[in-house]
Amino acid sequence: MNLDEIKSFVPECCDIDSYDISLCSQEEQRILREFSPGTKSIVVFGHHIESSIEWMWFPSKAERGNCTCAADLHLKAAVEKVAGYLCCRDKACTILPYPDPCGVLFKSLASKSAMGELGDSYLFLHKQWGPWIHLRVMLTEAEVKKDSIARATGEREEVCLYCNKCIESCPGKAIGKDYFNGLLCKETQDRIRCELKIRGYIWKCEKCLRVCPVGEVPEGIINHA
Ligand code: SF4
Ligand code: SF4
Repeated sequence: MNLDEIKSFVPECCDIDSYDISLCSQEEQRILREFSPGTKSIVVFGHHIESSIEWMWFPSKAERGNCTCAADLHLKAAVEKVAGYLCCRDKACTILPYPDPCGVLFKSLASKSAMGELGDSYLFLHKQWGPWIHLRVMLTEAEVKKDSIARATGEREEVCLYCNKCIESCPGKAIGKDYFNGLLCKETQDRIRCELKIRGYIWKCEKCLRVCPVGEVPEGIINHA
């Protein structure tokens, strides 16, 4: 199975990459094999957030965690198409759950792909879109190979500019050099999060993302202050 073969299921506003599960740490491999013991490849999908409203979270009982956003619904549809294609070829696929924590950070899995890298703020930075990317991850028993040498060897361009802006912007001091405290981030978000007048519709904090010079801040960004 070649990566280009499944790329055609992914729209232009999304990116896709894959790598062998052996590139994951032992602990990551252990957790991922609990989801799917026969996993050979990790397939990472990313949707470019071009408009702020795509990352507005709203209640949805049909989704895990009872909430979703347009970016996730859109990306999940692309992941399901790829999974359907592979399953028809007897290659089992498991789509990791989102937004519930699955035990492995999606950004950590994405950072092993050729899509981008983890920045100073521990944000995942796509090489073109910066932090404005919504991630999904699929495990598959297929060996998904790549044509390009850079992709095949996992070579990545350096993306982070090490400007410190993300660290300075965080109102909760949840981030530092190679450091991210998810609990502090969540507590800070709960304190400052912007809720629309319609109850339950939420934008996340995004302060560290909005100061990042890599990529373009999406259209229609709202003032969370
Ligand atoms: S999302 Fe907000 S609270 Fe969380 S790390 Fe970024 S700036 Fe800090
Ligand atoms: S704000 Fe600067 S240091 Fe932080 S992730 Fe972006 S480029 Fe890197």
